[in-house]
Amino acid sequence: MRAQVGIIGAGPAGMFLAHLLHAAGIKVVVLEQRDRAYVEGRVRAGVLEQTTVQLMHRLGIGARVAREGLVHAGTTLCVDGEPFHVDFADLTDGGAVTVYGQSEVMKDLNLAADDRGIRIIYGAANVTLDGLDGDHPAVSWTKGKTMRRLACDFVVGCDGYHGVSRASIPADQLKTFERVYPFGWLGILADVPPCNHELIYANHQRGFALASMRSPTRSRCYLQCAADDRVDEWSDERFWDEFSERIGASFTARIVRGPSFEKSIAPLRSFVCETMRWGRLFLAGDAAHIVPPTGAKGMNLAAADVIVLGEAFAAWYGAGDSSGLEDYPRRALDRIWKAERFSWWLTNLTHRFPHMDVFDRHMQIAELSYLKRSRAAQTAFAENYVGLPLDF
Ligand SMILES: Cc1cc2nc3c(=O)[nH]c(=O)nc-3n(C[C@H](O)[C@H](O)[C@H](O)COP(=O)(O)OP(=O)(O)OC[C@H]3O[C@@H](n4cnc5c(N)ncnc54)[C@H](O)[C@@H]3O)c2cc1C
Repeated sequence: MRAQVGIIGAGPAGMFLAHLLHAAGIKVVVLEQRDRAYVEGRVRAGVLEQTTVQLMHRLGIGARVAREGLVHAGTTLCVDGEPFHVDFADLTDGGAVTVYGQSEVMKDLNLAADDRGIRIIYGAANVTLDGLDGDHPAVSWTKGKTMRRLACDFVVGCDGYHGVSRASIPADQLKTFERVYPFGWLGILADVPPCNHELIYANHQRGFALASMRSPTRSRCYLQCAADDRVDEWSDERFWDEFSERIGASFTARIVRGPSFEKSIAPLRSFVCETMRWGRLFLAGDAAHIVPPTGAKGMNLAAADVIVLGEAFAAWYGAGDSSGLEDYPRRALDRIWKAERFSWWLTNLTHRFPHMDVFDRHMQIAELSYLKRSRAAQTAFAENYVGLPLDF
């Protein structure tokens, strides 16, 4: 098989890139180790920046997000039960985020890929990359008992944090940075109306909580939990009791409890691999960086990476201009580090750390009190939350 660009991973980064390249007339093949139902069913991100929504419209897959997405022009922060509101629209000249689940984004991307004949090979096992440091890279995989091979000009690793692409770069060529947080996020999905029309970020002395949603009838709620907690230790009753306590008295009465149909624990980490290009391999999305989910930036960063990379490939194939490909790591990392900073800052501001003493707690409360009263501080928060412009 042959393609101009071989893409590893059919998550948001891989599929957004496949559409961008297809629109530029570049022949792509996407290799995905799981099946389509798994990729579309994965419950993960749910808050889209404006840049991501605009990308969906540009690719002609924006009809459903326009119809069903919940536009949030603000959010509420809560300190030990005392809420205050941050008005994104007022602070950022009409800025907003859109609540729309990652699984819905994937369904929209995949349906359009069917219509456009974009080739995605699901169930590709044992993916191996070779020739990345030469002019003729290739990707091999097995499907059943058959071994297949894709020859291409470039390979793009969109295969997430645990994928094979970053691992194919020699260890002495990798420049990485990592911070692992000493807690996790326990998340549930339940078919009950959310307790507020916008998200609530709660800093409580018992730990962080986030009230989010997927629709007016489906709640997505999170609790900070111990890094080694197990899902089976958290009955729905225990979850709702703890959530009610942390989210604060102003919202407790509005909580509608219901059985969860998804419950999982996610570890929190910050990670950047600055080696986003090695020979003819490029990395994009979670393959190159991870943020703690507090700032809702992961999927949005994946989309921003591939916008930059898509432009670079279009310039290369359209006009033989390689400057965009050479500049890709610098341009992408500039945005990535800013999103890393915001996600790290918001995590530090809202979570309870095991080492925290009374002084640390006062620092958090003082900063939140400043955020509550200062328009300048709220503007900085709002413009980062709704998403900085692409080349900020
Ligand atoms: C609890 C939680 C909440 C989150 N909330 C938000 C949010 O509100 N907003 C936000 O923007 N982000 C959020 N994120 C992050 C977001 O989900 C990720 O950043 C996003 O999925 C990254 O997309 P990706 O395509 O880079 O990687 P992935 O979605 O991980 O996709 C990678 C794909 O590659 C495939 N793959 C892996 N290895 C191989 C291999 N060897 N061969 C072939 N295929 C392979 C995988 O099966 C997968 O389909 C959240 C994440 C979590 C866990």
